[in-house]
Amino acid sequence: MADETNPFFIVQGQLRRAVDNLDLGEGVYNLLKDPMRVIEVAVPVRMDDDRIETFIGYRSQHTDATGPTKGGIRFHPSVSVDEVKGLSMWMTFKTAVMGLPYGGAKGGVICDPQQMSERELEELSRGYIRRLAPMMGPEVDIPAPDVNTSSQIMGWMLDEFDRVRGQHLPGFITGKPLVLGGSEGRNSATGRGVVFTIAAAARRIGLDLKEATAAIQGFGNVGSYTAHYLDQAGTKVVAVEDVRGGAYNPKGLDVPKLLQYVAEHRTVSGFPGSEPIDTKQLFGLDVDILVPAALENQIDEANARLVKAKIIAEAANGPTTPEGDHLLASRGVFIIPDILCNAGGVTVSYFEWVQNTMGYYWPPQEVDRKLRAMMTKAFDTVYKMKQTHQVSMREAAYLVAVHRVAEAAEARGWVHRKRAPEIPSDQLQAMATTMPEAPASAPVANGP
Ligand code: NAD
Repeated sequence: MADETNPFFIVQGQLRRAVDNLDLGEGVYNLLKDPMRVIEVAVPVRMDDDRIETFIGYRSQHTDATGPTKGGIRFHPSVSVDEVKGLSMWMTFKTAVMGLPYGGAKGGVICDPQQMSERELEELSRGYIRRLAPMMGPEVDIPAPDVNTSSQIMGWMLDEFDRVRGQHLPGFITGKPLVLGGSEGRNSATGRGVVFTIAAAARRIGLDLKEATAAIQGFGNVGSYTAHYLDQAGTKVVAVEDVRGGAYNPKGLDVPKLLQYVAEHRTVSGFPGSEPIDTKQLFGLDVDILVPAALENQIDEANARLVKAKIIAEAANGPTTPEGDHLLASRGVFIIPDILCNAGGVTVSYFEWVQNTMGYYWPPQEVDRKLRAMMTKAFDTVYKMKQTHQVSMREAAYLVAVHRVAEAAEARGWVHRKRAPEIPSDQLQAMATTMPEAPASAPVANGP
C-alpha cells in the first residue's frame, strides 16, 4: 500500500498536526502514534467442498485511556494490518469527539464474503472470535459490524463468546439482532447520524435540504440509510453507486423503489428509470451534497478536482486522501470529517451497550432523540473549535478528540502534556461525557 493511501500513516499525520496545534509535546504523540496492542490470528475453516482453508485476521486495540476499546470488524479481500491499525486509531478519535467512554479498536479478516456460503461465514465468524476471546469482553474490547459484516454475524460472534465464557454477556458486541439484546435504531444509526450532520452543515452554509441534490457512493448499510433519510428530508438523491455499477437520474431517483430493487437484485445497477454512471462521473456531478459511503481513499487529488458539491459528508472512514482534502479545503468545500460524520453508528452502539448493562431497553423514538442530541452537540462543539482556531472541520475535530484522549492519558499517569491547551471552557464543558438534554422531536420512521 502506498504511503499516501495507507490509513495508518494518514491518521498518524492527523495526530501529528493536532498534537502540534495543541502544543502537547512529543510524549503525547509517541503514546498515541501506535496501537497499544495488535493481534494477528489464523482461523481454519472447513469449506463446503471439504477443503480446510486458513484465513488471516487482525484486531488492533489502539488505546484504552478513555475506556474499553470499541470498533467494527470487516470482512474484505483488501484487509491489511496497516488498514486495521489506522481504522482503530480513527475509532479512538471518533469516540473521543463524541465524548463516549471508549477507546478505539478495529478488526478485519482477509476474505471474500461474496464467494463464501452462509455456513462458511458462520464458521469463520466463530473461529475469529474463539481466537480473540481472551483479549475481548464488555469491559475490555467491544466489536461491532463494519464492511460486509451484518447483525447476523454479530449474533454468531456473541454466541461463540458466550460459549467460551460460559456466561450471557450481551454487552460483548453491538449491532446484534434485537432478540439478542440489540438496540432499536442500530442498523440505521450511521446513515441517520450522517444526515443529522448534513442538516447541521446545511444550516451553517444556508442550504435548504428541501431544495438540495445529493449523490452517494456506496449503497450498503450506510449509503442506503443515508439515501433514505436524505429522501425523507426532501433532498433529491440523483445518483448512487455500488461496487457493481451506478444509477443516475437528474430528476431524482425514487429512493423507496430503489431500496426495494436493491433488496431483490443486490445492486443499484440497472435500476429502472436510471442511466448508468461511474465513480468519476458521480464525483463530478453538479450536486449540493456528495456522500462517499464505500471505502477509504476514494476522493484522491484527481477526483477532488472534479467535485462541484458544497458539502462532502464523509460517511465512509477515510474516504478522502490528504492531497484530496487539501485541494477541497482550498476551494472552500464544507467537509464533515468521518470521525464526526459517521459517528452515529458507534453512538447507538454505546446506547446498546448501556441498555445491555441496565437490562432495560428504549423504544426507537428515544434512541433517535438521544442520537440527534448527541450528534448535534458534537457538531456544534467541532464547529465552535473551527471558528475559534480558524482551522478546517477536520482539524477542529482532531483538536477536540486528541485533547480529550491526552487529558485522560495524563490523568492515568501515562504521559505529561507539554502544556494544557487553551480551549474555551464552554467547549471543555461540551466534551463532558454526560448525555446532553435530548430535545423533544417528532418520532422518525424506522428506516428502509
Ligand atoms: P457495506 O458492506 O454494507 O457497504 C459497502 C458499500 O460500498 C456496498 O454497496 C459496496 O458495493 C460499495 N462499494 C465497495 N467498493 C466500492 C467501489 N469501489 N465503488 C463503489 N462502491 C463500492 O458497508 P457499510 O457498513 O455501509 O460501510 C461503508 C463505510 O462506512 C465503510 O468505510 C465503513 O468503515 C464505514 N462505517 C460503517 C459504519 C456502520 O455502522 N456500518 C459505521 C461507521 C463507518
